[in-house]
Amino acid sequence: MRKKIVAGNWKMNMNNSDARALFESLNNAKIVNSTEIIVAPPSVYLSDFASNKNKNIYLAAQNCSDKENGACTGEISASMLYSIGVEYCLVGHSERRQYQNESDLLIKQKVNVLIENKVIPIFCCGENLDERESGDFYQVVQTQIENSLFHLTDSEIKRVVIAYEPIWAIGTGVTASSDQAQRIHAFIRTLLVEKYSLETAEEISILYGGSCKASNAKELFMNTDIDGGLIGGAALDVDSFLAIIEAF
Ligand code: PEP
Repeated sequence: MRKKIVAGNWKMNMNNSDARALFESLNNAKIVNSTEIIVAPPSVYLSDFASNKNKNIYLAAQNCSDKENGACTGEISASMLYSIGVEYCLVGHSERRQYQNESDLLIKQKVNVLIENKVIPIFCCGENLDERESGDFYQVVQTQIENSLFHLTDSEIKRVVIAYEPIWAIGTGVTASSDQAQRIHAFIRTLLVEKYSLETAEEISILYGGSCKASNAKELFMNTDIDGGLIGGAALDVDSFLAIIEAF
């Protein structure tokens, strides 16, 4: 059985006291279902949160270096993340693809360094509005996955979480419909079946991201190939994030 996951990407939001307060509320919340909860705060908070977190909360970094270590001023390595107890790291988020010009090749290198250092990549992919409207989006998503993930071995790909995040839905309030999301999630799983095997594809969690909130999470999560969500805006409020978790 693959994992059900709800991950909150805090992006570059919240100063220390607000961040701690939100984290504490999540840490102390009584979660009744078995959903895996991941919090991806700004990296300055990771060490503090890692020392104080309960067993049912996992931590993700929002980024890491593609290099192992060395002369890379301002960067944080995958091995540093692992050494403080961070379990996951986002890679390929559309904001980094767009604002930091991250290429499929760079993202592939980050995936590699994360896997080598026992940190699970949450690999983000998804098309922009033009690509959706022109009908090219299946090919766009396929190319992103092929370029950055399909060099991995069978046992390595099983350690990746995929997040499908249509750019037109991120932070816009426009969500992919349940049907639109299920279709492309099923497409991604078919790619995994064809490249690896049914057994492998069935083990990989595929999350949906893009204006997912308490009011639409249930409809999205009830689909066979949607294994949870990567949540931006709605992860910044404890009640809305917990309501999304409870949507399972
Ligand atoms: C995201 O940026 O990963 C995201 C899904 O954002 P939002 O939920 O705010 O659309």
